[in-house]
Amino acid sequence: MAQRERTIIAPPVNPETKPFWDAAAAGKLLIKKCLACDEFHYYPRSLCPFCFSDRTEWHTASGRGTVYSYSVMRRAPVPYAIAYVTLDEGVTMMTNIVDCDLDSIRIGQKVRLVFKPSDGGPPVPMFTPGG
Ligand SMILES: [Zn+2]
Repeated sequence: MAQRERTIIAPPVNPETKPFWDAAAAGKLLIKKCLACDEFHYYPRSLCPFCFSDRTEWHTASGRGTVYSYSVMRRAPVPYAIAYVTLDEGVTMMTNIVDCDLDSIRIGQKVRLVFKPSDGGPPVPMFTPGG
């Protein structure tokens, strides 16, 4: 069975997230760390979601994580898996699990970062099984 590729909608890029998408184009996943409370957060924003400090800085994530939860969208024209992945840095991001048998995805599974091209926008961070 030939595997069809799903069209990925281009993510909106704004001044707050432009460094994130510029890094994505270079194959790097950026997350933010707050210098006031020392917590990582995702998605990136100007103010820390924990303490509202504006003293945040960018960090390159390791790209390794664990499936926290997932849901397979079987009624879509090309079925796909939405998942929450907890990065090794401790933040959880909503993403897709790709390049695998959708029936093989498991909670607690180790996944690693891959980038998928979007339709006319920057590549989008997703994850595939493997450490
Ligand atoms: Zn903070």
